[in-house]
Amino acid sequence: MRIDVLTLFPEMFHGVLGSSTLKRASQGSERRPAPVSYHLTNIRDYTTDKHGKVDDRPFGGGPGMVMQCQPIWDAVMAVERLDQRPAIRILMTPQGCKLGQPLVEELATRPRLLIIAGHYEGVDERVIEKLDPILRLSIGDYVLSGGELPAMVLIDAVVRLIPGVLGHEESCQHESFSPTRGRLLDCPHYTRPRTWQGVDVPPVLLSGDHAAIEAWRSEQAVRLTARFRPDLLRDHPTQGAP
Ligand code: SAM
Repeated sequence: MRIDVLTLFPEMFHGVLGSSTLKRASQGSERRPAPVSYHLTNIRDYTTDKHGKVDDRPFGGGPGMVMQCQPIWDAVMAVERLDQRPAIRILMTPQGCKLGQPLVEELATRPRLLIIAGHYEGVDERVIEKLDPILRLSIGDYVLSGGELPAMVLIDAVVRLIPGVLGHEESCQHESFSPTRGRLLDCPHYTRPRTWQGVDVPPVLLSGDHAAIEAWRSEQAVRLTARFRPDLLRDHPTQGAP
């Protein structure tokens, strides 16, 4: 997968894309190509304004600045030409549909994502409409200063689902919201020591009985979901279970 990010602050991405799972995902080996490549583009590089301006005051008045059409349009057109794979265009915005695991799974199957991070008061609506089809995507009902953190959240959620990115030990199977957990929360986890501050690990986990362990985990996942996210149980076949 190729991931392009168009932003005014590319430097914000270096630590995140250069660490841990996201870093490993972009490193190939002799035996296999890298599952993903990241390409950061500074929108400012595409402005035709001689002072490097990319924003201006909002028509109609009000506080803040609005990102102008021209630099974004030219940046998208230039970046899309860099690779033949069709890109799904995504604008990070609190006014978009809310990101959830089913959409993350769908995006993880795409060959190319082109993510635009807004800033200031937002982006001139005309360029968003002109870029249609474009997915307006929110990471939650709160407002951040820019689309850079939302873009990184999206990239992390997507990349870890690309086959070959996570090793067996950190597999994304049976996680919260995954189909194999029935889109419920994950079960609780335990590790050594067997007893900590007088609290024992649930005995079934030490039994070696894999069927019993899986049954216990499924039951616990339903219990945790009922306690912390009862809304998720509405469409679940085990609705009404303890
Ligand atoms: N005026 C906008 C509003 O009230 O909806 C908020 C603009 S926000 C300060 C600046 C930029 O941050 C947005 O253009 C968007 O790219 C990004 N952003 C902020 N919150 C976000 C969220 N919850 N999800 C995705 N992007 C967000």
